[in-house]
This record gives sequence, C-alpha cells and structure tokens, in this order.
Amino acid sequence: MDPYTIFADIVAGRAPASIVYEDPDVLAFMDIRPMTPGHLLVVPKVPARSLAELDPEIGGKLFQVGQQLAAALRASEVNCDGVNFFLADGVTAGQEVFHVHLHVIARTPGDGFGLRGRPRTPPREDLDYLAASIRGALRRSVSE
Ligand code: AMP
Repeated sequence: MDPYTIFADIVAGRAPASIVYEDPDVLAFMDIRPMTPGHLLVVPKVPARSLAELDPEIGGKLFQVGQQLAAALRASEVNCDGVNFFLADGVTAGQEVFHVHLHVIARTPGDGFGLRGRPRTPPREDLDYLAASIRGALRRSVSE
C-alpha cells in the first residue's frame, strides 16, 4: 500500500495547513476547498486508507474531536446554526483523499450544501430482511 497522501504531508508538517486542533492521535485543519466558510477535516495521524483499515479507537477519537469542533464552530466567529458530519469511504462514496477524514461542516440557512438523494419508504419486510443480513455480517465480524 502506498501510504502517501497530501494529508500525510500535512500531519508531518511538510505541507501547509490551517490547524485548529492537534493531539497525539488526531489533527484537525481547515478544508482548502470549503463547502461553507467553517469546513474542517479531522484526520488520524497514523494514515488509514479506509474505515476498514482504521483502528476503531482512533475512529472513536475522530468523532469525539468532531463533537468538540462542532461546539467550537458554534461558539466561534464562524456563522454556524448547525453542523454536518460527513465521511466518504470509498470512491463510490466520493472519497478523493485516501487517508480517512471526517468532514465537520458549519451550516447556515440557505448555504447551498446538502445531500442529494431520493429517499423512498420500502416495505417493512425489505427493511427486516436487510437488517437480518447486516446482523449476520456483524456477528461474523465479531467472531472472527
Ligand atoms: P473527500 O472527497 O471526502 O476525500 O474529501 C477530500 C477533501 O480534502 C476535500 O474537501 C478537499 O477540499 C480537501 N483537501 C484536499 N487537499 C487539501 C489540503 N491540502 N488541505 C486541506 N484540505 C484539502
């Protein structure tokens, strides 16, 4: 696996970044092409290309830091009436940088950011069927 991404350079201090938070495991900085004026990225310092490769403890830390950043966005000079978390895992999900990162995005009314999609309400049997399949996969992954 080629561990190199621009985020590895940022973590190593070899590439510029507007840093908002750092601890031994996690770094957070401003997204260079923000969806809204308060768009942050939270990354693990040890690179992981995907959720499957990410240490779950560090995954938990990404969320914890995201929570703190959400509060900080609301308390800062950033216009922030709400916050979205977003994480793209895989090309199909929109991942472009293969170093796991949590987007923390400040929201204001009419800012134009949003998820496109066409939700529908499937029959309960379909939901139950898929839920059982996912429960089975979970059990198998726990017992591995
Ligand atoms: P994703 O599509 O989830 O992989 O998002 C990658 C994000 O990384 C995009 O929002 C980019 O704007 C952001 N990005 C790429 N390069 C940099 C950089 N050098 N500094 C800050 N953010 C970056």
